[in-house]
Amino acid sequence: MSESLTTVAYLGAAILFILSLGGLSNPETSRRGNLYGIIGMALAVLATVIGPHVTAAGIPWIVGAMVVGAAIGLYAARTVQMTQMPELVALMHSLVGLAATLVGYASFIDPAASANFSGAEKLIHEVEIYVGVLIGAVTFSGSIIAFGKLSARIGGKPLLLPGRHILNLIGLLIVIWFGIQFVRAGSIQEGMTPLIIMTVIALLFGIHMVMAIGGADMPVVVSMLNSYSGWAAAATGFMLSNDLLIVTGALVGSSGAILSYIMCRAMNRNFISVIAGGFGSDTGKAKPAGGTAAQPEGEAVPVTAAETAEMLRDAKNVIIVPGYGMAVAQAQHTVYEITRLLREKGVNVRFGIHPVAGRMPGHMNVLLAEAKVPYDIVMEMDELNEDFADTDVAMVIGANDIVNPAAQDDPTSPIAGMPVLEVWKAKHSIVMKRSMASGYAGVDNPLFYKDNNRMLFGDAKKMLDEVLGVLKTA
Ligand code: NDP
Repeated sequence: MSESLTTVAYLGAAILFILSLGGLSNPETSRRGNLYGIIGMALAVLATVIGPHVTAAGIPWIVGAMVVGAAIGLYAARTVQMTQMPELVALMHSLVGLAATLVGYASFIDPAASANFSGAEKLIHEVEIYVGVLIGAVTFSGSIIAFGKLSARIGGKPLLLPGRHILNLIGLLIVIWFGIQFVRAGSIQEGMTPLIIMTVIALLFGIHMVMAIGGADMPVVVSMLNSYSGWAAAATGFMLSNDLLIVTGALVGSSGAILSYIMCRAMNRNFISVIAGGFGSDTGKAKPAGGTAAQPEGEAVPVTAAETAEMLRDAKNVIIVPGYGMAVAQAQHTVYEITRLLREKGVNVRFGIHPVAGRMPGHMNVLLAEAKVPYDIVMEMDELNEDFADTDVAMVIGANDIVNPAAQDDPTSPIAGMPVLEVWKAKHSIVMKRSMASGYAGVDNPLFYKDNNRMLFGDAKKMLDEVLGVLKTA
């Protein structure tokens, strides 16, 4: 394939990626968005493999690697549970980071690559390598730790080193100093030492950055690593002189940055404070999951499935707030059945979606769309937080942190300042979960003890099946 034909194919792929991002911004068009992305990626891979930069001898290697990669990808896609998606995504980000790091080293030690450049071009190429390896290494180690935290292999409690901000600053200055040594080096051997030292610092920085993140701030870090993986891919594009990789990386990088900004706003967090680490965690009251700390005052009153069904049937306005537990229990289809039945009986049912509900951005929207819940009754937190006062029943399904009034009432809480769905303002709230355990942030929830709240203990799917059974017989 000629250079110009490859460029045309790359242009087509870039347009398809932009259309794909546009499609993915709305649940109704997301399938189409995915399809654009698939076609764009197939076109990009094909144009690269049969393009002018790949020799015939290289093709069997590429095809072999693609077969192995595709087999692993297919296996992961088929076996991964919906609740494991965030950790899988974190693992994939780590691979992008690793690829950028390895490509950086390969470009540096490849004599053919360095022979192509001289003067200012050589300097630019070396800066590309240094920055590419830096971003790649931070993305790699940060994503591995994020994977560990999201899959509960590493505890959610923030690791706060003394003088962590000074440590970060010193690390940055050392990286800049070795960067200068790197571009000044006269040979590959001379440049290798600063490159390796910087890589080690970048890896440690990635680990430190994510280890220092406290409970509820993880979503911001996940979207930020998503953005980093885009910039790492763009850096790889610069090193390989591949325009499409630069464009695609920049698209992922900037959309991830926008998502991080949206997440920060949703969590009422300062972006810099979150990435500097430990935001909201040194306020003195962080409690371990399961909560051994003093319990909020009052008594948690249990309720049965039959009583829940009765309260729902008697209500005019119902708001359902789904959370991570709905995903664990895979209760979305039963939720839909209950919604359908109540709506047929004239009950106004709507859904309140918190931006960080579940374990990945849009987690609840995906589950509800899968269960065919109509989009027009699925509302964002800001759209209906004021409506709770006019709501008869707020039904919380496997959610905890996102409905915790301590975020508003307790300035010493690790989640203080995070906007939450104000379910306690409804006439009655019902919280459906298996026990009194805390959520992801490890904070006790005073909602459970409020006078107008009832606890429906049990697996969300099982309890909702029982509620549905009673509703059907009534
Ligand atoms: P939480 O983790 O706060 O609470 C979920 C609750 O679900 C738990 O308290 C648990 O209680 C209950 N639960 C678990 N399994 C079941 C089940 N089978 N049936 C019924 N209940 C169940 O989730 P939220 O959605 O309220 O909040 C999300 C949290 O995750 C926030 O802190 C957010 O910051 C964080 N996070 C979000 C990410 C995102 O991008 N959305 C990414 C990373 C973290 P019990 O054990 O008693 O049943």
